[in-house]
Amino acid sequence: MDKSEFRNWSRRASDWSADYLESLPERPVRAQVRPGEIGRMIADSPPESAHAMEEIFADFERIIPGGMTHWQHPRFFAYFPSNAAPAAVIAEQLATAIGAQCMLWQTSPAATELEVRMIDWLRQALDLPEEFKGTFQDTASSATLCAVLTMRERALDWKGNKAGLFGQKPLRVYASKGTHSSIDKAMWVAGLGQDNLVHIPVDENGAIRIDDLKTAILTDREAGYQPAGLVVCVGGTSTGATDDVAAACAVGRAEGLYIHVDAAWAGSAMICPEFRHLWAGVEQADSIVFNPHKWLGAPMECSAHFVRDPETLVRTLAIQPEYLKTYGKEGLVNFSEWSVQLGRRFRALKIWFLLRAYGLDGLRTMIRNHVAWSQRLAERLAGEPDFEITTQPVLSLFSFRYAPKGHAGDLDELNRRLVNAINDDGRIYLTQTLHDGRQVIRFTAGPFEMEEQDAEIAFDTICGIARGLESEAG
Ligand SMILES: *Cc1c(COP(=O)(O)O)cnc(C)c1O
Repeated sequence: MDKSEFRNWSRRASDWSADYLESLPERPVRAQVRPGEIGRMIADSPPESAHAMEEIFADFERIIPGGMTHWQHPRFFAYFPSNAAPAAVIAEQLATAIGAQCMLWQTSPAATELEVRMIDWLRQALDLPEEFKGTFQDTASSATLCAVLTMRERALDWKGNKAGLFGQKPLRVYASKGTHSSIDKAMWVAGLGQDNLVHIPVDENGAIRIDDLKTAILTDREAGYQPAGLVVCVGGTSTGATDDVAAACAVGRAEGLYIHVDAAWAGSAMICPEFRHLWAGVEQADSIVFNPHKWLGAPMECSAHFVRDPETLVRTLAIQPEYLKTYGKEGLVNFSEWSVQLGRRFRALKIWFLLRAYGLDGLRTMIRNHVAWSQRLAERLAGEPDFEITTQPVLSLFSFRYAPKGHAGDLDELNRRLVNAINDDGRIYLTQTLHDGRQVIRFTAGPFEMEEQDAEIAFDTICGIARGLESEAG
């Protein structure tokens, strides 16, 4: 592309983006393509000579959108949302054009100083104590890895990075059975090993059993293990299970453990004071992660990672070869020392645009609506004789099951068929999970552009398709 064409094509891209977003309600939410179908439409080898932008853009329009699952669709009720609020998308366009590598203060002073401010804006929005500082990691998985590495180094008196783990007492990390697989993976990557992640049993609401936690730590100490950390879950991925944060943190602190709170999804709702009871006691944690790139509206990737004492994190992760030293600027922040990766994007810009373009008030209204609409949908389904609510709403997430009276076959199989039929239909998108060993269907309201009528469409779609399946079966 000749550089004189840039202006024209970036305008075309903006227009395309606006048209795309407007077209979403008409599109099926989940991609309706088969595996390999898109791959076969792409050339086998890279071109030797340049293609015209006209041709590239036409191929993009022809091949890509139809092969996407539309995460910005107002009726995306699967997994958790991954909202890209329009004002934050504009910030991403600008950050991409600037194309900065924001590893050090001096490689990106404005990005670094804006990041310090935006982390503090979010801290205030969540009402966390002033001592919490932080950074934007790419994902919650990375923040959790950083926390597990910190647990390791702190427990080894900062000798692990240098000497390795050979000959050390096995370090133990505790978490409920329902925690996210990113904690398991952090144990692998940190070299602590899957077997040293101790999964503590949960109560009937999916919360970690505090007595079992205490017992496990005690038993481990007696057996010669070294307890190092605790991961507390707020709003688990499957059905929103949430630990008693205050009680878990009290045990963690009494035992000298480093405490990390994973609130990847639910953290966004903590901008609303009335939901903060869900993580009461969180100020006792050492490390907290939540994903503005899930519910709040920051496009991927953007995980806010707060730490009470940045020194422990930086001591774990800072490496300063000669070429990375910033002379004469002691005390300034180099965010690459707060994360595993060296190079980093300019993530703070989208948070600045997001918080200013909608205001905390606007974002609270969105979250409150999602919670209310989801609860209303759960009530309506509960009122139908052939549906049961299998887990009550946690914020905007609940699970349900289609269980028509007198159904002869396997209900797990029926619900698997139902979720597939719903997603093939395309008006809404849902995912399934296991609860108490049974196949259930999850619903989570979260799309940035969702309206109340979208929940009504969900109700009609779910009931209509379910009953169609049942009458088909006779
Ligand atoms: C989504 C999620 C994660 C993983 O988030 P990434 O940012 O994709 O790494 C971790 N924990 C919980 C509870 C989640 O919901």
